[in-house]
Amino acid sequence: MNINEYKGVVVFVEQREGMISKVSLELLGKGRELADNLGEKMTAVLIGYDMMDKTKELIYYGADKVIYADDKIFEVYMTEPYTKAMSTIINDRKPEIVLFGATAIGRDLAPRISARIHTGLTADCTSLEIDEENNNLLMTRPAFGGNILATIICPNYRPQMSTVRPGVMQKLEKDTSRAGEVEQYKIDINESDMTYKILEVVKEEKEKINIEDANVLVSGGRGIGKADNFTILKELAKELKGQVSASRAVVDAGWINKDHQVGQTGKTVRPGLYFACGISGAIQHLAGMEESDFIIAINKDSEAPIFEVADLGIVGDVHKVIPELINQLKIV
Ligand code: FAD
Repeated sequence: MNINEYKGVVVFVEQREGMISKVSLELLGKGRELADNLGEKMTAVLIGYDMMDKTKELIYYGADKVIYADDKIFEVYMTEPYTKAMSTIINDRKPEIVLFGATAIGRDLAPRISARIHTGLTADCTSLEIDEENNNLLMTRPAFGGNILATIICPNYRPQMSTVRPGVMQKLEKDTSRAGEVEQYKIDINESDMTYKILEVVKEEKEKINIEDANVLVSGGRGIGKADNFTILKELAKELKGQVSASRAVVDAGWINKDHQVGQTGKTVRPGLYFACGISGAIQHLAGMEESDFIIAINKDSEAPIFEVADLGIVGDVHKVIPELINQLKIV
């Protein structure tokens, strides 16, 4: 492999039901920065069906170029056709760096591509930087239960690939004056590429929770006492037009479902305001929320580690502080 042939940054753009995912816009922001540091171009790869109208968005959020593979078979994500499409594009265009979201789709797709094209993959990154000495990508991720941060390089193979946690990178402001090229890319998928078919998509009926998109999160930990006490957190969240989230301790206890979990094995969030109610502030929890713009912690233990990352700390009982807070908000 002549690694000098590989140029530019590629972002795999994830879509569900024709909607571009937020993590893809965040990756376009990071991809733009990496491409500028390398003095190279950034390309967004979109695989979908009947989504031509979405390609301009990707340019507005930072891409120089969009490669769009359009086919009915790409309408719903399936491992095999997506792996073939993405591997073909990578082998054809030889990018130096390829980024995926660390989502269910990205975690399924990226390892298969790395095996198919014989390169490395660093999963679950929280930081990506260029080493100015040799242009290697420094891919950093939490390791050993979040106790250390490991920085990984892929010096001898290209592209350098990573999956990146949602909510960690920042998307750029949408700039509708940005111009770029859109290229339609034809991939032939035939019967022999497929070992299964999707006959029907049945949606799980549940409350739609996407804590990653909320601007205000009211998060409950073991200190709230029991499942029923989430009612009061929901009331506070409603007053603040936010959503309820949780620590792993309460998810494991079955007080609330996993979609609400913040942290290393849950979701990474970056809201404008994060309330930590009865949460101790374990390193694995902090990994998912410490980048929030403003953190308010309520804990009866003044020594709780959560106060080290809080912008405002309230030492007190959540059962007294939160109802009072709701009253005050209602008066205002
Ligand atoms: P606790 O640590 O039990 O803290 C409860 C807090 O509530 C205490 O600080 C206490 O002082 C306070 N309190 C009690 N009563 C009151 C009251 N009435 N009013 C006010 N405060 C009160 N955790 C996550 O959250 N997310 C993850 O993704 C995650 N991933 C993990 C991955 C690994 C590999 C491992 C090993 C652990 C992970 N954990 C994760 C678990 C983590 O280590 C902690 O155990 C967990 O975050 C603790 O949750 P907690 O703060 O709700 O509970």
